[in-house]
Parts: sequence; structure tokens; C-alpha cells
Amino acid sequence: MDADWVARFADEVIAEAERRAPGKPIVCASGLSPSGPIHLGNLREVMTPHLVADEIRRRGHECVHILSWDDFDRFRKVPAGVDPSWYEHIGKPLTSVPAPPGSPYANWAEHFKAPMAAALAEMGVEFRGISQTEMYTSGAYREQVLLAMRERRKIDAILGQYRTKAKAKAKDDDEAAALEGSGAAGEDDGSGAGGYYPYKPYCSVCDRDLTTVTSYDDETTALAYTCACGHSETVMLTEHTRGKLVWKVDWPMRWAYEGVVFEPSGVDHTSPGSSFVVGGQIVREVFGADQPIGPMYAFVGISGMAKMSSSKGGVPTPADALSIMEPALLRWLYARRRPNQSFKVSFDQEIQRMYDEWDTLSRKIADGTALPADQAAYRRAATTASVTLPETPRRLPYRTLASVADITGGEEEQTLRILREFDHEIAGLDELRPRLDRAQHWVTTYVPAEDRTQVREEPDTALLASLGATERESLKLLSDGLDEHWSLDGLTTLVYGVPKIQAGLDIGDKAATPELKAAQRAFFSLLYRLLVGRETGPRLPTLLLTVGRDRVRGLIDS
Ligand SMILES: [Zn+2]
Repeated sequence: MDADWVARFADEVIAEAERRAPGKPIVCASGLSPSGPIHLGNLREVMTPHLVADEIRRRGHECVHILSWDDFDRFRKVPAGVDPSWYEHIGKPLTSVPAPPGSPYANWAEHFKAPMAAALAEMGVEFRGISQTEMYTSGAYREQVLLAMRERRKIDAILGQYRTKAKAKAKDDDEAAALEGSGAAGEDDGSGAGGYYPYKPYCSVCDRDLTTVTSYDDETTALAYTCACGHSETVMLTEHTRGKLVWKVDWPMRWAYEGVVFEPSGVDHTSPGSSFVVGGQIVREVFGADQPIGPMYAFVGISGMAKMSSSKGGVPTPADALSIMEPALLRWLYARRRPNQSFKVSFDQEIQRMYDEWDTLSRKIADGTALPADQAAYRRAATTASVTLPETPRRLPYRTLASVADITGGEEEQTLRILREFDHEIAGLDELRPRLDRAQHWVTTYVPAEDRTQVREEPDTALLASLGATERESLKLLSDGLDEHWSLDGLTTLVYGVPKIQAGLDIGDKAATPELKAAQRAFFSLLYRLLVGRETGPRLPTLLLTVGRDRVRGLIDS
């Protein structure tokens, strides 16, 4: 039995589900708002319950992971880059707002759900998506809405206990909720001058939520509202379906409706007035159900996107992450960290180190030396209860693939020729996919132009002319040795060996004196300047193999 965080939550959830509803399928839940591109940071909202639900399934229990799409939330703001005429839709449900221009999708919410759903499918995340628009407009929540309205004074009193405490925190909560991607951000809790009503109708004329409930009759369920557009109307809540409960009531209502046993949240739920704390009281006292086990998860940061933000719209999505890393690796980042630990998803050079770590772990798994917790994280990353995530058949280091892609520009024949120097048994590039494609995409999309390798077209004659006798000798030793050492290992020996020969040592000498190291550094720097016009670059043996013997000689022979 695994002793990682996922296993411990699974223990707890299974025990709690047995206590609440023995023999019934266990429900884990996530919620996402398709109000715009769904940020990679929100993936933890789905991955945390996914991993727990998956562990529960591995143990043979029936478990459903519901993903609530908060697509009946109001359209709150027009993202940068979208036609300003979309401002007229602010206040409408996300499913009533037209999709951005050129989109094949029926509405705003569908447009942003689709790429997220596709990314989750690619990552092996099984879920049952629930459109809150469909739930509310079909009347599925009718009884719960009527109950909440009947109990509005009790709800108001519960919320009142937190309102003053929460006021000081409001700004923080808004920001946290916005990051969480839930419906919590900036939404009022139903209080107003005319009394407290937890149900907010969308106006039947303008379809916006700029409405104020003015009266409600418990006997007849007649609800009167006015709208900022000038419309006013009385509807019967036994029939009305174009409206929703305010977020702080909506969330606990759904816990009760779906019987949710596990749902984490990104907001610090120990803070007074947070939706999770208030919801816990409302679900017990109003809906007569239990609160889910709901750990707080720490935010996931992104590194290496700053330089890209202006060109890419600034919001990395899970699809962006999957364009540079394989699904198993992305899963692993979530599986290996406890939810309360923060971490970063790297779009910069760090991704190479992340891949090295992953490959090291893979080798330890293969030879049976991985620690139990690492084994568990690896298995959760590479497989689910029902699928094995796609794997690259022949794994070369990501950094090697990236270097070669950088130098060849992705040209296939040259790429294959060079990579065969690393592994003679490569039959074709397909064996290196999808990792190769991810590395190529990373280089072309996320490596800043100034960090890309540009092999010089012409020799740097000024630099060559300025060299002293020792430097000239080192270049001649290299040039003369290329034919004999034209392999990855051979070139490694040669580039380290040239300064050794100059120091009177054998090319294969194990010496590592400070003087020799300094000479090697100076020699490498000279080669980089002559080959790529910079002080550094990809590993020299890789670079030399990629550039090719004749071209190398053309750039270093004086
Ligand atoms: Zn209106």
C-alpha cells in the first residue's frame, strides 16, 4: 500500500463515504469557470481530486469525478484583445455571450471549455462535466432553490456572522477566487436594501443579472424583481429557471445535491468568511448534508512566460504546457507534491532539469531502486486506473533533443543524422516522439531569440587574426583531431583533451588542476565565440556534431 499523500486522502475519503452513504459511488468534485482562457494554475483544481479519485478506482471502488462548469455565472469582464463591443454582454450568463470572433463554438463558455476538456482528455483525466446552465435552466435544482428561498433568513444570519470579519479580507478573497477560477470572485452574497434573497434572476428582457429582487411570497413562490434596464416583472419560482443561487449558497447546495465527499479549494479555507467555511455551515444547517473533505491547495506558479506574455496573451493554459511536455511529466508535477506545497511549471530552461529528474526517476523505477513515495508518484503520472499515458519509445534527454532542434531548426534528415550519434540504434524519428516534438516546440516557441543558437555563416576573421600562438595551436589540435574523434564520446574527449595536450599531458589524462580547468574554460569560450558568436551555447560535442566537420573547420581554421 502506498504511503503518499494521494493514498492517505483516498483512505480518508473511502472511510468518510462509507460512513455517509455505504455502497454508493464515491463523488469527488472540481469546479471551473470558463469565463476566459482557463489558466494552467487552475489545473490543480482538477488534478488534486483526479489523483484521489483515480486511487479510489485503483482500489476497486466506484468513484465519479464531477467537474462543474460554472458556465451560468455572469460574464464579468472582456479580456484584453477581444473586441470592445463585447462589453454589451457584461452581466449575461457565460453561455449567452457569443464566442470570440472566429470561434467555431456556440458561445463564450463552450469556446473556453473545449481546450480545457481536450487537455484533460490528453492527460487521462476521466470526469463527468456538469454544465450549471443546463442544471439551472432544466429545473434540476428546483427543490434546492425553493428551500434556499424559504430559509433565506437563516442563510442571511449565517452570512451575517462572517460579513464584518470578511470585509477586511474581501480584496484578498477576490484575488484568490479569481485565481481559483471559481464563481466566488466579485459576486455579491444576495443582500440588498430590499431584504436578503439568495436567488438572483437574469432579466427576461436584457438577460443580464442587473436585477434586484423586491419581494418574495413563500406561499405562492411569486418573486418580483426590477432590472437596471427598466424592466420589472413577477415570476413564479416553481416555474422560473433563468436565475441562480448566489455563489456562497450555490456551492454548498451542489455539495448536498451531488453528495460530494472530496473537493479541494484554492482559497485559504481557514480564513473567516471564505466560501468553504461559510458553505460548511450552510450545507449543514440549510441543506442537511455534510461538507466535503476539502484540503486547501497551494497555488502553482509559472516560470519563463514573462518574455512571452505580450505575444501570447499572457495566459498559459494546460494546452500550452502539453505543447512542451508529455502528459505523464505534467501529471508527475502534481502527483509528487502534496497539495499544500507550491511549485512551478517551467517554460524556461528549468524544463530541461525537470526532464532530467524524470528520466533519473524512470531509471530508478526500472532497476528497482526508487523510494516508495517516488514509485507511487511515478505510477500515478504514467498510468491511471484505466489507461497508460503515451510514452516515447526511445528516450533521449530532453536537453539533447532541444539542443539539436535549436541548431538544426527541426530539419528532419539532419536531426536524425545527429541524434544517431547519440544512439546508433535509432531507426527513425518516430521512436523519439512525442518527446522530440515537445522539445522542438519548446525551442521555437519559448526560448527567447537571444538565447537561440545561430551558427555563424562566415568565420570571424577579426577574432581569428587577433589570436595568440597558444590559441591558434589549440584550434589546430581540434581541427586535426576531428576525423579521429567524430562521435559524441570522441568529441567529448577531444574538447577536454586539447588543453591537456597543450599542458604536456596525455589526451585521456584524468588531471583536473585549477590551471587545466581554467584553460578548458577559455578554450570552450573561444570555440563558442568562433562557432556561434556568443560566450556559451549547447554542449560542445553536440554543437560540433550538428555543425558538421567541414563547416567547423571553415569557422576555426585560420
Ligand atoms: Zn434587464
